[in-house]
Amino acid sequence: MTPMTPLTPPPPLTNWAGNITFSAARVHHPTSVSAVQTLVSSHRRVGVLGTGHSFNSGADTSGELLRLDRLPRLVEVDRARRTVRVSAGTTFAELGPRLQEHGLALRNLGSLPHISVAGACATATHGSGDDNPVIAAGVSAVDLVTAEGDLLSLDRTAPDFAGVVVSLGALGVVTGLTLDLVPAYDVQQYVYTDVPWQTVAAGFTDITASAYSVSVFTDWRERTQIWVKHRMGTEAPDLDWTGGVLADEPVHPVDGHCAANCTPQLAIPGPWHLRLPHFRAEFTPSTGNELQSEYFVRREDTGRALTALRALRGTMAPVLQVSEIRTVAADEGWLSPAWQRPATALHFTWVRDPGAVAPVVARIEEALAPLDARPHWGKVFSTPPRALAATYGRMEDFCALRKRLDPRGTFGNEFTDRHLPEG
Ligand SMILES: Cc1cc2nc3c(=O)[nH]c(=O)nc-3n(C[C@H](O)[C@H](O)[C@H](O)COP(=O)(O)OP(=O)(O)OC[C@H]3O[C@@H](n4cnc5c(N)ncnc54)[C@H](O)[C@@H]3O)c2cc1C
Repeated sequence: MTPMTPLTPPPPLTNWAGNITFSAARVHHPTSVSAVQTLVSSHRRVGVLGTGHSFNSGADTSGELLRLDRLPRLVEVDRARRTVRVSAGTTFAELGPRLQEHGLALRNLGSLPHISVAGACATATHGSGDDNPVIAAGVSAVDLVTAEGDLLSLDRTAPDFAGVVVSLGALGVVTGLTLDLVPAYDVQQYVYTDVPWQTVAAGFTDITASAYSVSVFTDWRERTQIWVKHRMGTEAPDLDWTGGVLADEPVHPVDGHCAANCTPQLAIPGPWHLRLPHFRAEFTPSTGNELQSEYFVRREDTGRALTALRALRGTMAPVLQVSEIRTVAADEGWLSPAWQRPATALHFTWVRDPGAVAPVVARIEEALAPLDARPHWGKVFSTPPRALAATYGRMEDFCALRKRLDPRGTFGNEFTDRHLPEG
């Protein structure tokens, strides 16, 4: 008789960064929307995981964890209406080329195309650009499986729609989304290095206004880069006045990392989906060994925020890989960190050492508290829940909506318990 091979349990499931080990009892990969409905209605606690690129336990659950990566992929373009309906697990890396084939585009993208559309929208993921809002602002309809297993189709005519898209996974399982599109466009990307900090601080408004999408990378000390994404067909920006050096070879935002991971620079024209993200879909984005935090302040408070953070450069130095400063247009999403205020988003790529990073994050939060900074929902933060609730004028409405759609807290977890007041 052949001895039986002992069953080895699957390795624990972690997020991309590896700082969160999910505590779910089981992981399910439903292959149809009706299977999602059955799973949800037959379990007391359910969570949904996108591609796992968030840095906190927002997607965790003590019950059943659903991944939608095996739902049939749907990319349904409506050229006349300039919309696309996608299945929730679709990644931007999959979506971009499909839209480009139709001569269509999204208005903006985050720094990496690896993430799922539903996961990005649930946390209000954003790119940069004075006039570009978070990606969720371009969602016109959502298919949502609620706690009872019902499939709701909600669109902008629904009274609570502005509360539904940036959901933190707390309202139900999004199985499909419809996104607004614009005609396809080309972008040239180029980088200025060695920009004097004082120029960035004094000229920030002119710098970000100069192109479709602009990012400032800095270590808050000597090293500062400006990444320009110029939408072709619009007036060409000129940032020579900043005193920066126009890079004549590709660069990575973090010193010592290979620029091959980055999308083409040196002003080589290319389609929007291959220039707006900083990182290429086929490679590890960023450094791959990191934690991240990010805070949104009112655009008019940028100068105060930059001064407060520069004063902390010595505190940050031992744990900081790089910071990125971007602008985000205001939107109406109840839990969008740019809710009703044009924002500047101050991002930190940390070393992957949660214990060393936590006290520095707390110092940053203390420094930005007078500015009512709103943390990125998908990153590391410890903003006191009361301060968080106070800065979101529609937080109570969101909690009431949650109570209505999920009265037994099926989609609740430790993260929502901590950050969302009882509805
Ligand atoms: C290298 C790197 C670079 C990044 N750059 C940016 C950036 O430029 N801009 C930015 O804003 N953010 C950025 N992020 C953060 C990232 O965009 C967000 O964390 C985003 O939520 C990740 O999407 P995901 O599919 O991995 O979601 P996950 O991390 O898997 O989930 C995030 C949340 O969405 C919920 N969710 C996922 N799928 C569903 C669904 N189908 N239905 C309901 N809820 C769902 C989860 O429950 C969870 O609450 C970056 C992250 C990394 C690792």
